[in-house]
Amino acid sequence: MTDLYAVFGNPITHSKSPRIHAAFAAQTGADIRYEARLAPLDDFAGAVRRFMAEGGRGANVTVPFKEAAFRLCDSLSPRARLAGAVNTLSLEAGHIRGDNTDGAGLVRDIETNLGFALAGRRILLLGAGGAARGVILPLLENQPAQLRIANRSPAKAAALAAAFAPDTRCPIAGGSFAELAGQAFDLVINATSASLGGAALPLPDGLYAPGALAYDMMYGQGETPFLTQARAAGASRRADGLGMLVEQAAEAFLIWRGIRPETGALLAQLRRELQAATPA
Ligand code: NDP
Repeated sequence: MTDLYAVFGNPITHSKSPRIHAAFAAQTGADIRYEARLAPLDDFAGAVRRFMAEGGRGANVTVPFKEAAFRLCDSLSPRARLAGAVNTLSLEAGHIRGDNTDGAGLVRDIETNLGFALAGRRILLLGAGGAARGVILPLLENQPAQLRIANRSPAKAAALAAAFAPDTRCPIAGGSFAELAGQAFDLVINATSASLGGAALPLPDGLYAPGALAYDMMYGQGETPFLTQARAAGASRRADGLGMLVEQAAEAFLIWRGIRPETGALLAQLRRELQAATPA
């Protein structure tokens, strides 16, 4: 029997997840159907319950429901509990188990696909929303030298840093963008949604150390506004979040199906399609 999966978001028409999971299923011989579903902003839980009643086996969760998904789960993986956000649901016999694969996807893209080792690096994480929160533990697990969190609302960054500060693997601090003046980083990750509106972040000069990587969790046609800003600020290496998207999906597929699909060919294909769609 074909197993049913879905991604829930609002909006959702732009989602590449059905395409990605169809490719994983074809590659691994899994008999699955994976749909994009628009959940009402005021009834995410109802949408998931209806999906379960239809026999849904698992779901991904995207903007703006990751925190609602966290609250809905009957049980959580340790990394989802620490993230306070859920992007992967496993549904079995009326039980909802939540996981968060965003951080694992980010780390795999940076370390494996981009060949950028995190150990010993000074990392700056921009943003303090669900995506930022979800990647902190996986970043710390790779033993960076320092983790700095900066956010438009500085109190949120400070609170996030304080929540993870008992982790003694590296110093963690959080605050405003302005407080970054005079500091340099080897890796700057944009986990804000500022790029969606095309807005430049009010960042001080000199943030990028020689050889630094600028990573935007957002992706799209052509260079994202954050990466344009990073290039002008001297970031010698730059990457968008398409690889993270594919890798977090591979991690979710592994949870559901017990097999990790290959991602390289699919990522290259999606990249070619995005570039072909870029207006001249
Ligand atoms: P949230 O809504 O939870 O958080 C948004 C964050 O962006 C907050 O820190 C907010 O700051 C900040 N922000 C919003 N607008 C601005 C602005 N104009 N200037 C400065 N800061 C701003 O979103 P998520 O954390 O879920 O997602 C963040 C981004 O990451 C999105 O673009 C999303 O698409 C992307 N993402 C990509 C993934 C991938 O697989 N590639 C996976 C997950 C997320 P404040 O607290 O002050 O409001």
